[in-house]
This record gives sequence, structure tokens and C-alpha cells, in this order.
Amino acid sequence: MTSAVVVGSGPNGLSAAVVLARAGVDVTVLEAEEEIGGGTRSAELNVPGVLHDICSATHPTGVASPFFASLGLERHGLEWLWPEVDAVHPLDGGRAGVLFRDLDRTAEGLGVDGDSWRRLYAPLAEHSDELIGEIFGPIIHVPRHPVLLAKFGLRSLLPAAVIARRWSTDEARALFAGMAAHAIHPLQRPTTGGLGLMFGMTSHAYGWPVAKGGSQAIAAALAADLVEHGGRIETGHRVTEMPQADIVIFDTSPQTVLRVAGDRLPRRVRRPLSKWRVGPGIFKVDFAVEGGVPWTNEWARKAGTVHVGGTLEEVNAAENEVHRGRMPGRPFVLVCQQYLSDPGRSAGDVHPVWSYAHVPTGYTGDATEAITAQIERFAPGFRERIVAQTVSGPAQLEAHNANYIGGDIAGGSNDPWQLIMRPRMSPNPYSLGVKGLYICSASTPPGGGVHGMGGFHAATRALAAL
Ligand SMILES: Cc1cc2nc3c(=O)[nH]c(=O)nc-3n(C[C@H](O)[C@H](O)[C@H](O)COP(=O)(O)OP(=O)(O)OC[C@H]3O[C@@H](n4cnc5c(N)ncnc54)[C@H](O)[C@@H]3O)c2cc1C
Repeated sequence: MTSAVVVGSGPNGLSAAVVLARAGVDVTVLEAEEEIGGGTRSAELNVPGVLHDICSATHPTGVASPFFASLGLERHGLEWLWPEVDAVHPLDGGRAGVLFRDLDRTAEGLGVDGDSWRRLYAPLAEHSDELIGEIFGPIIHVPRHPVLLAKFGLRSLLPAAVIARRWSTDEARALFAGMAAHAIHPLQRPTTGGLGLMFGMTSHAYGWPVAKGGSQAIAAALAADLVEHGGRIETGHRVTEMPQADIVIFDTSPQTVLRVAGDRLPRRVRRPLSKWRVGPGIFKVDFAVEGGVPWTNEWARKAGTVHVGGTLEEVNAAENEVHRGRMPGRPFVLVCQQYLSDPGRSAGDVHPVWSYAHVPTGYTGDATEAITAQIERFAPGFRERIVAQTVSGPAQLEAHNANYIGGDIAGGSNDPWQLIMRPRMSPNPYSLGVKGLYICSASTPPGGGVHGMGGFHAATRALAAL
């Protein structure tokens, strides 16, 4: 019987293991931490009964993932829950860009920019399944929908700031900027527009749901499927030496791959991996808030995600500062209110409010006040409602998950080259160039996010090579 070891139990590692186990391979997942899940873990951090997502919160890529959909994970308890509003980007004076799953409703709210919003996103939402099939994998491939991909791909190469020129209102421009800022990269740089297009498309095609009972439900469902098909998981097992198995798949950073297996890799693989650049970090604060966040904008009170950073120009200025290694006074902050669609996460009127700011790589300062002040700016009175808060800077994040080097949660800098050629230029970027050795983490296509597609592609290629 073919044997396999998967190093790391993040969503990609578990997905790789599921593909192998379902194909009859004898699979063991080795996880360094005491709990499985990597970026899909949840816990009561500060107030009993208040459940926080330690890492990922909202799951546009999860609900869009063709691999997750193919598994039928609802059999193992995974349930997506959608908020009334996908995202809001508040501006001073109570104004906001409001992203509804319903494209027409979004367009109506954007006034004079509504038609242009609709023209941009309608074709993407209409062909989202085909596009996801093209972009949730290696860039170098034979496209099934070449015209569609070419249209999307060419526009995706543009900087977000250039795409945003089609709109004249602060609301539409900021709404797009907030989505593009998920690249954690200056918005005048090429390819940042692609993130804005992708996140808007997922909203209008699938919505931005949360997982009932916390993001940990995703890891639990994948693990249950794995065990059902004969796989095993060992926690508390940090891999420092090459495991013995026919197939070894790393759900880790390229840096860990080099430490564990570097001497075996051919130069053509070792070289790009050793040049892999880490991206900016994040600084996370999990608040327990009595009565929720008192956003001035009414829609923000109903939104699963709130992008906090002001106008496109302000968001861009903050991202530029971070990119230069400086902590901005007013950072870009993401806030999630998962409890709105999943009330079971709250204790009475005390609710979990998830937030993080983009910060320079390895930032050692305390961004708690900067985050609180940014939220307070659009929700006066927020401070007084905070019952408890748990802070995780880049060092704590890395201590909790070795993949988050310097607090980089994206698996490497999303600069144009690395965004497209992850972690190297090849039609099979998952292969480490040695028989049976693969990498499947967020440092491979399609990159960061909970979707399991890196794991799916790596394991599928490993099986094909057998
Ligand atoms: C704070 C935060 C917020 C996020 N928000 C979102 C969000 O809202 N939506 C979204 O889609 N994505 C979000 N993400 C990103 C998402 O969580 C990741 O992109 C995703 O988890 C990557 O999956 P992965 O399987 O590649 O790696 P990971 O989930 O990082 O898992 C890697 C696993 O490998 C283990 N490991 C590492 N080295 C070793 C070793 N040597 N031996 C054994 N085990 C090892 C780690 O402990 C970890 O469990 C967020 C991430 C963070 C940190």
C-alpha cells in the first residue's frame, strides 16, 4: 500500500490528506501544534461562552472552492451562514460603500457609480464557476475558457488604484480598495486589482459566509472525512527531519521545506524557494464587546465584514507605509462580526468582534490602540463597550503557527511575481522536483485563503505521478 505523510493540518494539508485517503493511500498528518486546523481554529479567548476565530473568519474562498463543494462536508457538520450584508466600508460622516451579495442592490446603493459597478461585476458573477476553475490553480495551464480567462487576467494585472478610476464616489472607490487591500500590498502596484475583482466576484456569486460554530468547523469536517477514509492525524508532532513515506506533502512555508528537505531538492527548485520573500504582518485583537460595535453607518451594524481605513487614498497610504516597514498611524483594519449570522458564538449580549491591522513584517510594537482608534472613528462609543480583549502580534501568531513568519498570514509577499508564480514558475509548482515530494500550503496557487485547493492540486499530482 502506498504511504503518505502530510506535514501540517491547515485546510490545505487536510485537503491533500483527504484526496490521498479517498484514493486508498495510507495517510498520516503530522501537526506541530496540539490542535489541528492551522488557520482554521477557534477558541473562547477571554470571556466564557464567547467564541473567537483565532485566524480565518469569513469564507468567500471556502464557499467558492470546487474541492470543498465536491466533498459534501455538510455530512460532517459544516454549515455556511451568510450575514445580511457581506461587507461595509465606512467613511467619515456616516457614509459607506455597502457590498450586498445581490449585485443590483449593491449597485443601487452606489448611486452614480452603480451602473459601472454592475458592468464590472455582472460578467464575473455570471461566469464565476468557470473563472474559479481557471484561477484556483496554477497560472500556467491549458485554459478551458481562454477568452474569459484572458479578459479577467488582463484586468487583474492592473493596480487597484487604476481600476478604481472608473468610479467617482468615495463610496465605490473605497469599497473596491478595501477588497483589493487583502493583497496587503500598495494599491498602485500591478495585480492588486485582481484581488478586488476576485473578492467582489465571490460576494456577488456566492456571498461571504462564516462557518457555524467557528472556522474550526471546517478543519473538523475535513478531519472527519479523512478519518472516515482511514487517515490518521498526530498532533504535537513538529517535523524537523524528512518523514519516511512514498509521498510527503508539506503544508508549510517554503522556509520549512528548505530546512527539512533542502539538501534533497534540485537547484532549480531550491533556488526560487530560498529567494521566497515574506510579506507584511498582521496584528490581531479579539474583542469581547457588550451590545456589539455601535457603527454610525446602519449597514455596518449588519455586516459580516467591515473594512476600516477611510478613503481609497487613506487605505493606499497605510499600505504604502507598511510596505516601507513603517507602522501607519491609521492602519487598514479588518473587522468581522461573525456572531451576526452565527449567534451561538455570543454569551448573552457580549459578542466576539474579530479585528486585525496590517503592520510591517515582524512588527514588535503594540497596535491595539491604533486598531481601537480606527474602529472608534467610525463607531463612537466602541471603547466603552469593550469587556475584554486578546492581543496577538506577529511574534504570537508565528509562535502559534510556524507558517506565519513575521506575522505574514498570506504565505509570502503578494508582489506581482509571487502572487502569480507561487512558489516558482512551473506548470506543476506543487512538485519539489524530487519523486514523491510536494508543497501545498498558501505559498502555492491559488495562494492565501481557506479553500483547500493547494492541497487538492498537490495530492492530485502526487497520485498522477504514481
Ligand atoms: C488572523 C488571520 C486571519 C485570516 N482571515 C482569513 C479569512 O477571513 N478568510 C480566509 O479565507 N483566510 C483567512 N486567513 C488565511 C487562512 O487562514 C490561510 O490562508 C490558510 O489557513 C492557509 O492554509 P494552509 O493549509 O496553507 O496553512 P495553515 O492554515 O497556516 O496551516 C499550516 C499548518 O502547518 C503546521 N506546521 C507548520 N510547520 C510545521 C512543521 N514543521 N511540522 C508540523 N506541522 C507544521 C502549522 O502548525 C499549521 O497547523 C487568515 C489568517 C490569519 C492568520
